[in-house]
Amino acid sequence: MEGQDPGHSQRRHQPRHSGPATAAARFIRRLIVLAALGCAAFLAAGMAYGDPRFAGVLNFRLGSGDQSASRQGDSGQDPAGQDSAGQDPTGQAGQPGPDRRSGGAQAGASAGPDGTVGAPPPGREEAGTPLGNPEPPAEPSTSYKFLAVNSDGAPVGYSPCRPLHYVVNASLAPEGAAGLVPLAIQAISKATGIQFVDDGATDEQPSDQRAPYQPETYGERWAPLLISWTTPDVTPKLGGKVIGTGGSTYYSYGTGPKSYVTGSLELDAPQMATELERPDGTAYATAVILHELGHVMGLEHVTDPVQLMYPEIGAPDGLAAGDLNGLYQLGRTPCRADL
Ligand SMILES: [Zn+2]
Repeated sequence: MEGQDPGHSQRRHQPRHSGPATAAARFIRRLIVLAALGCAAFLAAGMAYGDPRFAGVLNFRLGSGDQSASRQGDSGQDPAGQDSAGQDPTGQAGQPGPDRRSGGAQAGASAGPDGTVGAPPPGREEAGTPLGNPEPPAEPSTSYKFLAVNSDGAPVGYSPCRPLHYVVNASLAPEGAAGLVPLAIQAISKATGIQFVDDGATDEQPSDQRAPYQPETYGERWAPLLISWTTPDVTPKLGGKVIGTGGSTYYSYGTGPKSYVTGSLELDAPQMATELERPDGTAYATAVILHELGHVMGLEHVTDPVQLMYPEIGAPDGLAAGDLNGLYQLGRTPCRADL
């Protein structure tokens, strides 16, 4: 689809979990981990106007925890009503536009050798009420869309009742660029009320097969959000015009409600370095990070070009009213002491 597909990429893994022989085993056996949806930002630096190419790969997976799980191939329907391969959720295919674009791609959960996915003891750091209490956006707007929704129509998001830890692999970050991440996170935190905790540097490399639970590395908790300054060599989905990717992994018990438990955000360090040399480079780089964080939190692209979640980041004015209203909703998803 490279060079044609305008937009969105998703990967969905559906590993199987066989729970421990506890009282909860009847639930845990049907754990479903589905890689969440995300998106890649596509950069058209050096690309001619009117050549709105996008790159992306779509790969859906869906099934119950009891089904044989494979992490390859495609299995069709997405319960969240997401797009299937080759479709553009924004309808912007082929339209000329700014020379900076974003599209979709995603990172996902991984299964163990037997197709199972581990989970930490539930409820770590979970409070009884949301940790933040953001003010509703000043300007109402419905120009937002969620990557996934539960059966009641509520968006899939992170539990607002526990902090969202993150680690950064900034070894390849352009000079002065690493500081843009905390500023973007601050803006997302203000909009959602989600409390972020900087767990510092990591040497973990991004991977589409990243396990959401890595007790050897991060202890008995969901792995933190991994933010990586990386390269297309390490992260092939950053190839071509893609400047960033981001997404989260949701978790559910059987057909129960889904919530995100971890995520990842990858930034193409060489491309970002080039962008940062432009006069508006800092604003643009910040917009890319915010856009990808928007995907991490659960926002989908929109067709309204005013919004930062528009798939073309041409006028990096920061979060707009639709983005802010969507993020506000994502900060009001249910607490999840059971995850
Ligand atoms: Zn995007």
